[in-house]
Parts: sequence; structure tokens; C-alpha cells
Amino acid sequence: MKLRFAGTGDSAQVPCFGCDCPACQRARLLSNHRREPCAGEIELDGELILIDAGRMDLAARCERQRPAAILLTHYHADHVQGLLHLRWGRGESIPVHGPKDPQGCADLHRNPGILDFQPGLKPFRPLVLGRLEVTPLPLNHSKPTLGYAIEDGVNRVAWLCDTVGLPGATERFLTQWQPHGVVIDATHPDAYDSPNPESRAAPRNHNNVAMALEIIERLGPSRAWLTHISHELDADFMATSRILPAGVEMACDNLEIPF
Ligand SMILES: [Zn+2]
Ligand SMILES: [Zn+2]
Ligand SMILES: [Zn+2]
Repeated sequence: MKLRFAGTGDSAQVPCFGCDCPACQRARLLSNHRREPCAGEIELDGELILIDAGRMDLAARCERQRPAAILLTHYHADHVQGLLHLRWGRGESIPVHGPKDPQGCADLHRNPGILDFQPGLKPFRPLVLGRLEVTPLPLNHSKPTLGYAIEDGVNRVAWLCDTVGLPGATERFLTQWQPHGVVIDATHPDAYDSPNPESRAAPRNHNNVAMALEIIERLGPSRAWLTHISHELDADFMATSRILPAGVEMACDNLEIPF
């Protein structure tokens, strides 16, 4: 199984429009950008499975290789906006799996085009996609959201975005499941200066780095990647030269992990 980070930004991405912070300036000059929102691609046996669909060039990407299925974590625009265009394509329909969310996003459910939306996934009830077994895991977010425990028979990877902390049942599942790799939401720097006073003390919809690292430590994978990264976090790392624990790294766009 190969995992590729198709996007690692938060909904504003890096550079963030109109921002002149050091991270955004660097992203405009160099290639340290996060031009796509948080998304993943899994390749196994020549088949492609997408995790989330927020890339604005999703249709072009799918032309290079038609995905066998799309897994959605939730229906916030930065995770599904690429579908608004892709759906008007031609050819065989593409199965789309995700959480039960009657509202969905925009008119996707009313006008699905070539997207074949499957019934909402039930937490902890595994879905089989080729040789992959994918177990949906409830997360803590402002919309119904699922993480995924993905297993190819040998390797186990947990995709945990978007979330703040983990629900007890999800953490218990993962502790028993013992992932080799964990991909986790770390949107905010620890000293997050949110415009919303309540979020300053404790982020409400996304982890900060300390929260993500605590979860990683408890789950004990051999490798972990932080993603859904804001320009504030990139700027914070530039300012503090922070070093992450062994085995943990910031994901970047197009990073490929062979398992
Ligand atoms: Zn910025
Ligand atoms: Zn979200
Ligand atoms: Zn998001």
C-alpha cells in the first residue's frame, strides 16, 4: 500500500490569500506551500482510493487515474469542493463513502452526477475495498466526521482529520488496533490566537500541536504525520525552530509513504 499526501493545508491553505506572515511569504517564493487542502491518496494493486476531495484540480487528477472509490471524512467545503466539478464528468460512476450527514454540502446529494453516494457509513463497521479493510471511526468536529483505520492485511494506518481530541470509543479502538502509522489533524500552533476568545483557551474543532502529539504518544505508532496545517502553524515552526518527537513529522503536499 502506498499513501500519498495530496494536500496538507487547512481551509485557507498556505499561502493564505492577502497574508504577509513569514510562512505565506516563504510559500509564495519557494516551494514550501500547501496549495491543496488536507487530502490523501491510497494506491494498492494498481487501484486508487481517494481520502477526501477538496482539491480544486480533482477532475484533472481523476483523469490521470480514475479512482476506484472516494472516502469522505465529512462535508466541509475544504474536503469536498472538488466534487462539485468532478460530478459533471462522463463514464462509469464513482462510489463515494462517507458519514451520514443529511445536509451534505451544497447540492451534491440532490445532483450527484457520476458520483454514486453510498449509504452513510456506520462507525466501527468495516468496509472492504479490494484488499483494504477500512473501519470508520467517529471524530470530534463541528459536522458528522469519520476518521478511517485502513489495513491492507499487513500495515495499519489511521487517518484522523478533522478532529479535536478523540472520542473515547475511537481511542479505545485504536489502542487495541495498534496502528503503524497515524495521520492527524494539527491545524493550530499551541499558542493559537483565535479571533474567537473561547477557542484561545482550548481549540474547539481542530487539534493544536500539543493535543496531536499527546494522542500520538498514547497510540504509540512507529510513524506519525501532522496535517491540515494552517499558515499560523507553519509560521510558528519557522519562528521557534521547534523539533518534533522521533517518528513524527509535518506532512507536506505530495509526500509519499510506501508501507
Ligand atoms: Zn500567513
Ligand atoms: Zn472540517
Ligand atoms: Zn478541514
